[in-house]
Amino acid sequence: MLETTPLPDIAGLDRPELESLLRVGGIEPYRAGQLFRWVFKRGVTDFARMTDLSKPLRTRLPELFRISRPAIVGRERSTDGTTKLLLELEDRRRIESVHIPDSPGQTFCISTQVGCAMKCAFCLTGRMGLARNLAAGEIVGQVRLLAEDLGLLDARFNIVLMGMGEPLHNYDETMRALRILGDPDGLAVSGRRVTISTVGVVPALDRLAREPYMPNLAVSLHATTEAQRDVLVPLNRKYSITEVIEACRRFPIKRRSRITFEYVMLAGVNDSREDAKRLVALLAGIRAKVNLIPLNEAAGIPFSRPSDERVDEFAGILADRHVTVSVRKSRGRDIRAACGQLIVEGTQSSAGQKLAALIK
Ligand code: SAH
Repeated sequence: MLETTPLPDIAGLDRPELESLLRVGGIEPYRAGQLFRWVFKRGVTDFARMTDLSKPLRTRLPELFRISRPAIVGRERSTDGTTKLLLELEDRRRIESVHIPDSPGQTFCISTQVGCAMKCAFCLTGRMGLARNLAAGEIVGQVRLLAEDLGLLDARFNIVLMGMGEPLHNYDETMRALRILGDPDGLAVSGRRVTISTVGVVPALDRLAREPYMPNLAVSLHATTEAQRDVLVPLNRKYSITEVIEACRRFPIKRRSRITFEYVMLAGVNDSREDAKRLVALLAGIRAKVNLIPLNEAAGIPFSRPSDERVDEFAGILADRHVTVSVRKSRGRDIRAACGQLIVEGTQSSAGQKLAALIK
């Protein structure tokens, strides 16, 4: 079998990495800025079309780099305007990315892994298990493709890492992706427009606290007692509520900002008045806001969504005790694009593809 190592992916290198590889290849490092502009601002993936580079450089670059580009293999539009893209990666694995308009701005919901290892009891993605981590270029690629596909390359948009996967379980590639997205010659997305959502991988939270590029933080709490969270969010057996909350207390929150605590509401499980009061107590002294997410039901998920009255009552208890609270209006439910509904069935390969794989 012939194995060739793929060339480094320009779309997955941060500025210092690209500059140093250019230098090694005998090219002036300042070309990095030009390359960022072509790839991210104009969506060009063919070096031959980079017309402000000299001819010799246009021939040399493809010997040193490739420019990855996930293929759009499916596109679904919800009645509420939400779009879900099904993307195929170079190894034919598939992921989903979602665009939510007017939320109030434009929001891209991006995946960080193919599947997820966390196995939260109410989440469909967890059913897939973890196939693999996404590379930075694949994380950034989702933003590039959504922006191009929807004509939003020059628009301001927010990015939430709330698609498939646990971003802090793929820390290095996720942070590299955020640095690339933040590059002023690329899409220039500032940390204020990015939210990392995590189940609370405590050592990674502490690492994030020391990053120069600082996104907003959302923590998926979902329960108020250790016993209950052990069941709903299995990672709790490793990093308990107490430890997650302590990590949040030491997290450097930006001025005028807060940590969001996500709380999926499951009828008869975690939606009682006592749960609400315990939640208030847990968050005491943290600059927090709570985002209640009434469960998006799905076949095979053994929970149900509480009534709107129950959700309102729960929210009322928090608000009465001066905890800022919002209820997430899940979008794109009709196309299975809402929270916890992203799942990709195993890729069916055709007979021809199987044959190609055998003789490779
Ligand atoms: N792994 C990260 C990113 C996923 S974000 C995290 O867990 O935070 C997706 C959010 O939707 C999380 O808060 C997740 O718990 C929530 N979610 C998962 N399944 C859901 C469902 N069926 N209904 C509503 N929300 C769900």
